[in-house]
Amino acid sequence: MPALSPSDIIAVIGAGAMGAGIAQVAAQAGHPVRLYDTRDGAAQAGIDGVRHQLEKRVARGKMAQDEVEAIVARMTPAASLAELADSRLVVEAIVENLEVKRGVFAELEALCGPDTLLTSNTSSLSITSIAAGLARPERVAGLHFFNPAPVMKLVEVISGLATDAEAAETLYATAAAWGKVPVHASSTPGFIVNRVARPFYAEGLRLLQEGAADPATLDALLRQAGGFRMGPFELMDLIGHDVNYAVTRSVFDAYYGDTRFEPSLVQQALVEAGRLGRKSGLGFYDYR
Ligand code: NAD
Repeated sequence: MPALSPSDIIAVIGAGAMGAGIAQVAAQAGHPVRLYDTRDGAAQAGIDGVRHQLEKRVARGKMAQDEVEAIVARMTPAASLAELADSRLVVEAIVENLEVKRGVFAELEALCGPDTLLTSNTSSLSITSIAAGLARPERVAGLHFFNPAPVMKLVEVISGLATDAEAAETLYATAAAWGKVPVHASSTPGFIVNRVARPFYAEGLRLLQEGAADPATLDALLRQAGGFRMGPFELMDLIGHDVNYAVTRSVFDAYYGDTRFEPSLVQQALVEAGRLGRKSGLGFYDYR
């Protein structure tokens, strides 16, 4: 299946850490992009954030200013879901909550034409469940980018039970055309990377809880001696503890409480305290 054409409109729902980055990727590939968020001003703030990131590239001599202007001009904040109706592809990147996502997909189905591909950037939730109950579940798939979306190459293209193979192929080809390295996967809890990565976070948190060493020591060890790009604590701070904790809970529940995936009370406390990591200014580390 061919990739989507650069003239196709891409809609991104949720202008947080992931949504803004995904919108940037699509706009850099030449698409008109509409960005929608329920939080007042968040979509425009997401676009301003993209400009800020791209201008850093200009300052390093890696991008021309008029390229920045062209990319940003392709990105428009949307004031309602209805403004996304003529999109060819929707990428949902809102809170990691099945019921909330299902509600958004039901609204999208009512608004968008029959050929619009409806995708979720969920890290762990069942694509089969997100699509269930829709009249056309075959056009629903996971399109899972990694953080930061403009930098990380991998994109998991997730098929639920009902996903049409041609839709998955179109998404795969589109991600490849956007300079990404896509992989097909079926909808298992946490898919590939977030499943394999669970013990990385969980064992780090258990070591911390047992008093083995502090986060900075453990992160430095894993980076310098373990060969990881980031240690577990700095990575959880980047991801956001609310998101990371929700993903662990979802994988834990999906595997009927398998203790390998048990959520951490240390991380739960951070979420309760609003210490969500970089995005709130405080997590395991202080970013203020
Ligand atoms: P975030 O908290 O940074 O942003 C979520 C945004 O969605 C917020 O701006 C919020 O206002 C908005 N939102 C919430 N409900 C909404 C609704 N009903 N309609 C429109 N907007 C709504 O979260 P994030 O880290 O960007 O994660 C978003 C999704 O991407 C989640 O499903 C998460 O699992 C997934 N994901 C996250 C990461 C990561 O590292 N953070 C990586 C890959 C995938």
